[in-house]
Amino acid sequence: MSWSGEGRHHLTAAASAAEGPARAVRNGSGTDAGDLQPRGDRPEAPAPRPGRFSGPTGNRLTVLSGPSGVGKSTVVAELRRTHPEVWLSVSVTTRKPRPGETDGVEYHFVDGAEFDRMVAAGELLEWAEFAGNRYGTPARPVLERLEAGVPTLLEIDLQGARQVRAAMPEALLVFLAPPSWEVLEARLRGRGTEPEDVIERRLAAGRVEMAAEPEFDITLVNTSVQEVCERLIDLMRVHSVR
Ligand code: ADP
Ligand code: 5GP
Repeated sequence: MSWSGEGRHHLTAAASAAEGPARAVRNGSGTDAGDLQPRGDRPEAPAPRPGRFSGPTGNRLTVLSGPSGVGKSTVVAELRRTHPEVWLSVSVTTRKPRPGETDGVEYHFVDGAEFDRMVAAGELLEWAEFAGNRYGTPARPVLERLEAGVPTLLEIDLQGARQVRAAMPEALLVFLAPPSWEVLEARLRGRGTEPEDVIERRLAAGRVEMAAEPEFDITLVNTSVQEVCERLIDLMRVHSVR
């Protein structure tokens, strides 16, 4: 099975094993990109730059995105545990660490001045402001892993996914969707890491992110973390064959 020419698919990760061949539903065409602009007095996140980081690498990048609370970090943590052969990019962020987060593991936690410096120096593959904090992907480690043929995964927001799409058109964009909007809300509140006003901001961003699902190559529904991880690994294997 080759990736190219298969179109866009929608997989229910938990159901797919029971159903045999993955249920495939073609995603539609793209949505309006204009409603997720960074706010505040800082410079806007960069406009996507076509082909900026494309090049002859031994591997293709995989990007995992989806609304806040859908389970992206949980999936990434499970992958880290069960699939150490996959390299997970560690983003920089101006957000404060949550309990249990370790600098250099989930994120490199930096202040605004250091983030500004990295942007000015062109050190970030992409970056965005999300719910009041800034997040970015250091470019060099990603490019080095791709060059070395290491399976490489980014967990980033929609704005970042769009920048990667423009900079590396060959990247595989995977959308992680909740089983329902109600489940998403319950997971975000159940995590208990944000006050209500931040939860509301994240849910507002989540509505925009959900509407952008058709821009992605494939959707995995996060009913079971283990199933999502297996599907992701399968996709990365297929996708890395050139
Ligand atoms: P994100 O990184 O997308 O913001 P998290 O990984 O922090 O989301 O997950 C949000 C909450 O949902 C956490 O409390 C996590 O334990 C829970 N969660 C994640 N995946 C599942 C799942 N498949 N089933 C039930 N709960 C889940
Ligand atoms: P959280 O604060 O919940 O860890 O992350 C908030 C959002 O920022 C999530 O959607 C997450 O995917 C996204 N994010 C994490 N790292 C990056 C990054 O390097 N770039 C971009 N654009 N988004 C990121």
